[in-house]
Amino acid sequence: MTASTHYDVIVVGAGVSGTALLYQLAKFTDLNRLCLVEKYDSVAQVSSHAHNNSQTIHCGDIETNYTLEKARATKRTAYMVVNYATKLAPRERDRIIFSMPKMVLGVGAEECRYIRERFDCFKELYPRMQLLERKQIADLEPNVALVDGAWRKDEIVATGTPDDYCGVDFQALAQSFSSDCVRIDRHTNKQVTQLFSTKVDRIRRDGSNYVLETNRGLLQARAVVVCAGAHSLLMAQEMGLGLDYACLPVAGSFYFAPEALNGKVYTVQNPRLPFAAVHGDHDVKERGKTRFGPTAILLPMLERYKRETIPEFFKVLRFDRRVAGVIWDLIREPDIRNYILRNVLYEVPGLNRRLFVREIQKIVPSIAATDITYAEGFGGVRPQLVDKISGQLRMGEAKITNEAGLIFNMTPSPGGTSCLGNGETDMRAIAAHLGARIDEAGFTREFLMGHEDTRDHAPSASLEGDSEPLSLATAV
Ligand SMILES: Cc1cc2nc3c(=O)[nH]c(=O)nc-3n(C[C@H](O)[C@H](O)[C@H](O)COP(=O)(O)OP(=O)(O)OC[C@H]3O[C@@H](n4cnc5c(N)ncnc54)[C@H](O)[C@@H]3O)c2cc1C
Repeated sequence: MTASTHYDVIVVGAGVSGTALLYQLAKFTDLNRLCLVEKYDSVAQVSSHAHNNSQTIHCGDIETNYTLEKARATKRTAYMVVNYATKLAPRERDRIIFSMPKMVLGVGAEECRYIRERFDCFKELYPRMQLLERKQIADLEPNVALVDGAWRKDEIVATGTPDDYCGVDFQALAQSFSSDCVRIDRHTNKQVTQLFSTKVDRIRRDGSNYVLETNRGLLQARAVVVCAGAHSLLMAQEMGLGLDYACLPVAGSFYFAPEALNGKVYTVQNPRLPFAAVHGDHDVKERGKTRFGPTAILLPMLERYKRETIPEFFKVLRFDRRVAGVIWDLIREPDIRNYILRNVLYEVPGLNRRLFVREIQKIVPSIAATDITYAEGFGGVRPQLVDKISGQLRMGEAKITNEAGLIFNMTPSPGGTSCLGNGETDMRAIAAHLGARIDEAGFTREFLMGHEDTRDHAPSASLEGDSEPLSLATAV
């Protein structure tokens, strides 16, 4: 092995998580030899691609499934993205984050009462958030409040912000982190290597170091962080870690309508359902289109539209009685069973548009099935973890670590938003393990100050991430 293949840290996976971490390690630690390894030929080709997610910066104000505590932690990580992007040149910033109206809409008496109560509880954390009665909703989103110029029949109320950085192209964000790392590599004495078309086949321990076997030879590092989406668990299990977890890949598809919304309209989440309610989003890449979704369907593959990942799915499913028990708990609950069935039907050509349009009509009542099209080739996979010991489905990000310089990240939604928060946790763990120094003042200036000052918000500290396990036994 040559010296040039020996690094302080290797990051596996050049999605928004891996590139964010590489950037943080390169800019804010004194580690000098860093490497990013990606199997495709460019950054963000999987979940972080703009086609494959809902392009939302989730800061906790319109996500009704977040507790106040979860919202506070999410707000800090979400604004790390905004604080980073708003310090870039305006042309670069405007490729990455997008300002638009956003709201969570209550429809019907019960949801409206809930929205009003939630507003009282959350308004202190989000001072710009407003309670929007139907007149204000109509000003921001006429197609939500009006049908043919008259008020829609249902009672509606929303909370939201007329103008906020809530849209994001995670692919452009990853490109920005990657370009910053190229500049650091060129203009400082640090070596920050980015290897594309390089697939990691296996990681093994070699004394206190790690050896990565790739299609282009061996690489060696003192620490390794795997940010390989659904593949992270597979790699961890090949090293004997995370064996108490299984992975259920939950695919999400989208539908397009001609420009129906000016911004983002979320709906109230049914607390009995494990996945986000359908929402409408002004698409930041597809001009003149509104994106509705995502759906939620279990698919036996780790990457959407990649049949070659089917065998890998069976490896991480690790199907046994405990996984069967968790799946059984899901399908025996009528609300979840109906939800799963509906989502299967949303994928059936011919039937799908006529059924899915009913979900959209909650947001835009005047929309018709003929107005929408299935977004072919769009959508991704959320790698949801099943904790076999507790029989729980984990709903957020998760980490597996050997506490000795090896970390694996699983990043279902809102993993794009938390790329920098998650990267901070990993950067601190790796710096502690390798005895590296962190430029705390620079880090605070770049990520916690600027557009939004979040210095008084505590980071989500736990190495398990800020995932919220959903106990199927108690939640349903
Ligand atoms: C339908 C849907 C909607 C979503 N909406 C949102 C949203 O609105 N907001 C939000 O914050 N999040 C959202 N998410 C989640 C978000 O997209 C992901 O959390 C985020 O993109 C994960 O980024 P990542 O870098 O961890 O993974 P990825 O972007 O998937 O990157 C993983 C990388 O690892 C590489 N890789 C894998 N195996 C190997 C290997 N063996 N060797 C080398 N490289 C490898 C892959 O090629 C890939 O580039 C959504 C997800 C889905 C599916």
